[in-house]
Amino acid sequence: METVREWLNALRTGECSARDAVTTALERIRTVDPQLQAVIAIDPERALAQADTIDRQRAGGEDPGPLAGLPIGIKDVICEKDVECTCASQILKGYRPPYDATVITMLRRAGAIPVARLNMDEFAMGSSTDHSAFAITRNPWDTNRIPGGSSGGSAAAVAARMLPCALGSDTGGSIRQPAALCGVTGLKPTYGRVSRYGLVAYASSLDQIGPLALTVEDIALLLPHLAGHDPHDATSANLPVPNYPAALFQDLRGVRLGVPKEYFIAGLDPAVETAVRSALHLFARNGADCVEISLPHTEYAIATYYIIATAEASSNLARYDGIHYGWRAPESTTLDEVYSHTRRRGFGEEVIRRIILGTYVLSSGYYDAYYLKALKVRTLIRQDFTRAFDTVDAIVTPTSPTPAFALGEKLNDPLQMYLSDIFTVSVNLAGIPGLSVPCGFSPDGLPIGLQILAKPFDEMMLLRVGHAWQQLTDFHLRRPPVCATSFSRPTTHA
Ligand code: GLN
Repeated sequence: METVREWLNALRTGECSARDAVTTALERIRTVDPQLQAVIAIDPERALAQADTIDRQRAGGEDPGPLAGLPIGIKDVICEKDVECTCASQILKGYRPPYDATVITMLRRAGAIPVARLNMDEFAMGSSTDHSAFAITRNPWDTNRIPGGSSGGSAAAVAARMLPCALGSDTGGSIRQPAALCGVTGLKPTYGRVSRYGLVAYASSLDQIGPLALTVEDIALLLPHLAGHDPHDATSANLPVPNYPAALFQDLRGVRLGVPKEYFIAGLDPAVETAVRSALHLFARNGADCVEISLPHTEYAIATYYIIATAEASSNLARYDGIHYGWRAPESTTLDEVYSHTRRRGFGEEVIRRIILGTYVLSSGYYDAYYLKALKVRTLIRQDFTRAFDTVDAIVTPTSPTPAFALGEKLNDPLQMYLSDIFTVSVNLAGIPGLSVPCGFSPDGLPIGLQILAKPFDEMMLLRVGHAWQQLTDFHLRRPPVCATSFSRPTTHA
């Protein structure tokens, strides 16, 4: 049992009870996670109790839901009632949210069982998971390398087959980039497609929750249980949720794919370029029409993103004051000391850097030059995409300019770290959906990801193109050296 479909088949036929499913996932975590450290916490009793309820419902002839018994991992930035939620930060140690995020409520209603809290860069700020305050997560393809970030725990846990699927969050690439670097499939939905209620805010105008799994088919099975309008999130869209699995029955014929020339630049690893170019040939051979397009404001994306994201972060993170949430520096004697000691010691270096940057670009005298200007450039970037989608159905690019880099390699060079988001941040600035699928391997055996983009709310197109791609290739089924299941494909559950 590896893919969501395989797990659900086994659960539906009764080959595996919900209790067996949770036990299997926990066993896999116990066996493999010590090498990877993707998991921050597990709560076996809670997960097994939910499993037993599902098994009882099934035994009593009730329908426990379309995802009944499916174990899922949750990035430690999404609230589950009474479960510690740390955002991989010292400052939130001990914080137990009093409510469930809407995605958690929806998943539980469908019968899915959250079994693990997954590691990440502190407050989702980073591209390597090096910035976690608790553990260094390793890439299952090479444990001396980073899994990507900030949803590095989610990507590593799925790649190593500990869990069939996980939730991540994506503000500037945090689902797609780790998915690419770990060789799994990850979707950042359109801004407003999935409720952000219960997602700890990093940059509220960019953040989205999305799924990571092994296949596009699995993403299509999960998305109906995440998407939809939520009165608790004023930015969630009041639009019908399409029948996502129906996208899997369409092929590539007649699909117009745009290839932006600004994405094939100096700094792009030759292995990544080769893999993406061969993908384009395969698309063309299978009926898609590939055309070169231009997204002329691409070169401003990183600067624009790091102004807007840090500005919003500086405001969102003001609430961690040592009083409202989590941890408080114990030695403080005055109110000012509570604030300053708690924030100085509770936040890591990268988070502090961003709060300072964000405060600077919002401060009087600099607001117009930086923040206001960035908002204007954001509009230009969004218009680039709107114009492109007048002539193409989807856009295809590399997800990340390089395969996974070494642990700690970019830790002391923030600019280099920021540049690893060069192909992903525009998507959040424009609010459009993006999917990353495995598309090859580097000469060192590291996975490479292909990013597919579509118009706002056209997740169907992403699933169609992504699934067609996975029907033509098998990169998504290859297993990393650190893997919880055996090296032969299971036949019984296929
Ligand atoms: N790496 C980007 C950043 O550090 C994106 C992070 C994210 O998407 N949460 O901000």
